[in-house]
Amino acid sequence: MNFKEIIEGVYREVKDIDDRGKLASYIPELAQVNPKRFGIHLSTVDNYQFGVGHYTERFSIQSISKVLALTLAYKIKNQRIWKRVGIEPSGTSFNSLVQLEADKGIPRNPFINAGAMVIADILITHLKNPKKDFIAFVRSLSNNPSIDYSETVAASEKSVGYRNVALCNFIKSFGNIENHPQVVLDFYFDLCSIEMNCQELSETFLFLAHDGKTLSGTPVLTNHQTKRINALMQTCGFYDESGEFAFKVGLPGKSGVGGGIIAINPDRYTIAVWSPRLNAKGNSYKGVRVLEKFTKKTESSIF
Ligand code: GLU
Repeated sequence: MNFKEIIEGVYREVKDIDDRGKLASYIPELAQVNPKRFGIHLSTVDNYQFGVGHYTERFSIQSISKVLALTLAYKIKNQRIWKRVGIEPSGTSFNSLVQLEADKGIPRNPFINAGAMVIADILITHLKNPKKDFIAFVRSLSNNPSIDYSETVAASEKSVGYRNVALCNFIKSFGNIENHPQVVLDFYFDLCSIEMNCQELSETFLFLAHDGKTLSGTPVLTNHQTKRINALMQTCGFYDESGEFAFKVGLPGKSGVGGGIIAINPDRYTIAVWSPRLNAKGNSYKGVRVLEKFTKKTESSIF
């Protein structure tokens, strides 16, 4: 497969399309990002790498980090995690309060904000120094000690995070948050503020394409757990557009409001795309186009 040629072709085709997306302006710091940024990077399980465009420039990975938080919590608590968070697509927006009332404080899945807060709570309970230990875990996955939180982005989101504050307190009222909501929120905002470039993102997620092991062979999750995380990404990874993403692209993955998307083809590759303007469902407008063209041209969707 000539990945290089295909990725270059897709990049050229999508680069100058009329981007009808909008920046995630509800977080002030994200509204400052240059909307013209556009990068793609592929990493394969047999060690091939290729990137194009702004693939070495870091951006805010936002909700993509929810997969990494889930991974660490799953590693620690195994099956017990599913008592506190569900595994069904939500069918509502990622920051919806309404559904939580009906579900009595058990968030539908770990990738909506409410679910990620419960996961953050689990990590706070089990890690000695959650902020330090979590970033150490992310660095170990990518073998990259320079990956870090952005204090500026975390502070920016915290300054306007009223809805997230409401969500966390609401879950606490149902008894599904153990720690103080302020502590959980601070950690949640930190998780969302992690920055990576497309290359780092595709490298970090390779364990999900490699039966739960890093490329150097370090076990992260079991085969069974890996299958389950990929299944959740397939059904819940793209907000209220997860069905359409499966339909058009056909890969498990996760997006974030910073305009990044990571997609995984088990046993083959990971591919990261970054383009900051988001479609109406909150997924990168160009990013979805890229992945749709890519899986079509490579005939490499999982279906
Ligand atoms: N930090 C963002 C929020 O809580 C994450 C949203 C996202 O990327 O889905 O609103």
